[in-house]
Amino acid sequence: SRTLLRVEDLKVDFQVPGGVVQAVRGVSFRVRAGSTVALVGESGSGKSVAAQSILRILPRNATIADGRILFDDGVVNEGSGPVDIAALKADGTAMRALRGGRISIIFQEPMTSLSPLHTVGDQVGEAVRLHQRVTARQARTQAEDMLRRVRFPDPKRALDTYPFELSGGLRQRAMIAMALVCRPALLIADEPTTALDVTIQAQILKLIKDLQADLGMAVLLITHDLGVVANLADEVVVMHRGRIMESGTREDIFADPRHPYLKALLRAVPRFHMAPGERLVPIRSITSEGGSLLEKDHQPWPPGADAAGPLLAVEGVRKRYGARKAGWFGAKAGAGTLAVDDVSFTIAR
Ligand code: ATP
Ligand code: MG
Repeated sequence: SRTLLRVEDLKVDFQVPGGVVQAVRGVSFRVRAGSTVALVGESGSGKSVAAQSILRILPRNATIADGRILFDDGVVNEGSGPVDIAALKADGTAMRALRGGRISIIFQEPMTSLSPLHTVGDQVGEAVRLHQRVTARQARTQAEDMLRRVRFPDPKRALDTYPFELSGGLRQRAMIAMALVCRPALLIADEPTTALDVTIQAQILKLIKDLQADLGMAVLLITHDLGVVANLADEVVVMHRGRIMESGTREDIFADPRHPYLKALLRAVPRFHMAPGERLVPIRSITSEGGSLLEKDHQPWPPGADAAGPLLAVEGVRKRYGARKAGWFGAKAGAGTLAVDDVSFTIAR
């Protein structure tokens, strides 16, 4: 199918006290219309920054330093070719029409999208009215229809509930309804289910898959869960320290031994059932702000492994979160917060 999104040599810099952090360092990939592309990689590798670039919701101290983000859904530019999102004004009319209209995003934490002060019906309806000239009544009807599609048990009643009255799973569904009510051509899902328990996770992922088929949209799925990648992705893009390490079809990436990095990543993810003697294998320099996870444990896997030393060693890890995560619809950017500052611990075998 045709190319919906083409990211070409994208570079994103952060101004930080004492210099510049190059969070994304020349990234290229594409998303075909209707397909699912999984974006994977260690914490801090630049996945969220790449996603925020596509929606132009980067923190205030970040700039797109180079590259193009070509989007062509056959609708923008009145169907006459792609628009370069990297060249648009982040808060200009064209970008506001794209954001939430043709491209939407959902996050791990639904309350970053939902306001606690308004009913679900008002918020999903408002998403419609930002993009279409409709009456409040028509917006409410569309909201109800979308709440039905995301399988609210009682969509009509849900219109008048507040987010705090809902369970975590239903809040997630309300956020998805808000993101999809304008039928975007591209949904970006940034670790959409990480905070949910396992059964709800599976339901939400199934829902996204079903809605994707119903609405014909493409999904750019950011996840740490390689089981999810194996289930949902047509193509996989692996990031490492702001660059693309590997990319290819799901079959290529999982089967082909020429993709050693993803294999290492697979082994570095702790699973519930680890075989006796099986061990976590390190990936160097897991955060770009210093520190390392599992750094000492660089040995062949799995057999013959020595049983000495800790199972997991975390050393001096620093992790910065973008303050932007509040309210992407009218997002006010802010400086990053250091969420984890120099954390070290070990877990014994
Ligand atoms: P995770 O899996 O933990 O969500 P990620 O791959 O999404 O990680 P990003 O959030 O994209 O990682 O961050 C990439 C890099 O960008 C970080 O390592 C950090 O150096 C830098 N960065 C992100 N946000 C900020 C900020 N607000 N200020 C300064 N640097 C930042
Ligand atoms: Mg992220």
